[in-house]
Amino acid sequence: MKKLALCLALASALPAWAGKAHEHGAARLDVAVDGGTLTIVLDTPLDGLLGFERAPRSEAETRAADQAVATLRAADKLFAIDAAARCTPASVELLSAPLKLGAAAPAKDDGHGDLEGTFTFQCQAAPAFVDAGLFKAFPRLSRIDVQVATAKGQRKQVLKRPAQRIELPR
Ligand SMILES: [Zn+2]
Repeated sequence: MKKLALCLALASALPAWAGKAHEHGAARLDVAVDGGTLTIVLDTPLDGLLGFERAPRSEAETRAADQAVATLRAADKLFAIDAAARCTPASVELLSAPLKLGAAAPAKDDGHGDLEGTFTFQCQAAPAFVDAGLFKAFPRLSRIDVQVATAKGQRKQVLKRPAQRIELPR
C-alpha cells in the first residue's frame, strides 16, 4: 500500500519535471535509432531560433523566420550523421503555432512560443553518432538536453556550445 501511494505521488508530480520545459537558450533533442530508422525530435522555445516567439511583424522578422524554417527543413545539412551508416533524409515535420507550421496546438497567450521538429532518416546501418549543427545554425542556443534511445538502451547527454556530437551506442 505504501508503495502504491509513492507511485501515485510520483505520477502526480510528473508534469512538474517531465512537462514541456520552456527555457530560453535551451533545447531538447530526442534521438532514437530503431532498426534502419533514425528519428530526431527537436523541441525548443522559438526564442532560441529567432529571438522572438510570435508571428513575424516586420520584413526582417519574416526573413529570419523563413531562413530558420529553411535551415530546419535541410535536415541532412543540419544533422551530420555518421557517414558509414549511409543515412538519407526521409521526412521533416515542423510544428509551431506562432509560425503557423503544421497543425500545432493554438499559441498560448503567455507571450511564449515553441517549435517542435521531427526529422527522420533511413539508414543502411546503425549510426555511431550524429553531429547536431544547431549551435552553428542558431547562435542564441547554448544548451541542448539530449535523450538517446538505441538497441543498447537509453541515455542522457547534455551538449553545451560548441559541442555537437551525440554518441549513439550500438
Ligand atoms: Zn519564451
